[in-house]
Amino acid sequence: MSKVNTVLGPVDSSALGRTRMHEHLIIKYPGTDQDPLVEFDKEGTAKAVTEQLLALKAKGVSTVVDATPITLGRYVEFMATVAEASGMNIIAATGFYTRRQDKQARLRPEVDILQREATHGDQGFGDMWHAGKGGDKYRDPTSSDT
Ligand SMILES: [Zn+2]
Repeated sequence: MSKVNTVLGPVDSSALGRTRMHEHLIIKYPGTDQDPLVEFDKEGTAKAVTEQLLALKAKGVSTVVDATPITLGRYVEFMATVAEASGMNIIAATGFYTRRQDKQARLRPEVDILQREATHGDQGFGDMWHAGKGGDKYRDPTSSDT
């Protein structure tokens, strides 16, 4: 069987079970760290997210793909904390959230980063595989438009 790398390590693909393919456990906009009015309560937030993950588990979900891009505060250490606390498989994504007009100017450095993360992981999580995130506009998943 093939393996899928989660934030806590490889998992046999047959053990992934019911999977939510596009979630965001937390999002942090650029500059949030410099805002003196914003205080991030990691412990309290982890507890709240863990409760949500346990509720999902109770509904039969075993795996969550966190599609939070690098530029929206992807936080793999946090994902690992709540994965351990909840028992949920969490797969981190790599990618950038950019405006269409920014893409051509910034494409090359992004490709290098995406390739590095896909082969070596990031944030000290070794060879963790990241799911990729793509697309350049929101589409209503319930819409029949393609
Ligand atoms: Zn998203």
